[in-house]
Amino acid sequence: MSATELFECLTEQAPSAGPHVLVLAGVHGDEREPMVACRRLSRKITGHLQRGRVTIVPVLNRSARRLKTRVGEDGLDLARTFPGRVDGSLTERVAHAATELIHSADYLIDLHTGGRRYRLWPLAGFMLHPDAEILERQRQLARAFNLPVVWGTEPSPQGRTLSAARDANVPAIYVEYLGGEGCCRTAVRALAEGCLNVLASLAMIDHPALPTQTRYWADDSRPGAGHLQSSHPAPHAGLFAPAARVGELVHAGQTIGWVTATGSGERSTIFASQAGHVVCLSAPLPVEPGDGLAVVVEFQSI
Ligand SMILES: [Zn+2]
Repeated sequence: MSATELFECLTEQAPSAGPHVLVLAGVHGDEREPMVACRRLSRKITGHLQRGRVTIVPVLNRSARRLKTRVGEDGLDLARTFPGRVDGSLTERVAHAATELIHSADYLIDLHTGGRRYRLWPLAGFMLHPDAEILERQRQLARAFNLPVVWGTEPSPQGRTLSAARDANVPAIYVEYLGGEGCCRTAVRALAEGCLNVLASLAMIDHPALPTQTRYWADDSRPGAGHLQSSHPAPHAGLFAPAARVGELVHAGQTIGWVTATGSGERSTIFASQAGHVVCLSAPLPVEPGDGLAVVVEFQSI
């Protein structure tokens, strides 16, 4: 099954040669803003691309989008399934087709939010690629996107779009922007604007450069540093109530939130394991034992 049978690709081709930039959204079906941002981006660049090619996939994981959930009907998380299999389940086939698309690109931007489960401080992230030139290009893409945080994390994770890009030496960034139900217009605008900023930094479009919004950065090569679902695990099942806010600077031992067991009413306090900014925070939702509730990162100021 070809890519176009599995997901829609919007392609804009400039009259002159230049890089091929791939923009993905909808890896997770409960992250609406990136999907809407892709439509906005497509409208903005139509007829205005000066060189190269842009391929935009507004909804990579149609099955998950139909269900409006993180994963699709086969229960696999597309962001853990790359490079996929040509003869596998639906999610595996989507991953395989998307991997081929990534191989055809010179740059990859993968757009996300925290979905229903998480809220994320707006950030552009990348893997700390072992090739210095690719690493530097990724850093430039992340800075050009122009969000408050630029975050480099260890390069070993498997199964992601960024894993496929890393293995093919395609410079790649992912972007996170808040999260929640519905569709936040500020997020849509910022995500589309960020892609335009990247295209402008590659001299593919004319787009006014705004003052930099990036205030913090970190290169964190510790294993699991970029893994958002395992930090500050819930000690037991219950309802999570956050005490901190996304983007808040907390000290080690500060209360981040509480988990209250539904039946017994037993309440556990979740303390920050280190000082830093709250990058990711669980929404006030029921949680299972071991669910990651928060990620705290020590950033450098720019
Ligand atoms: Zn996502």
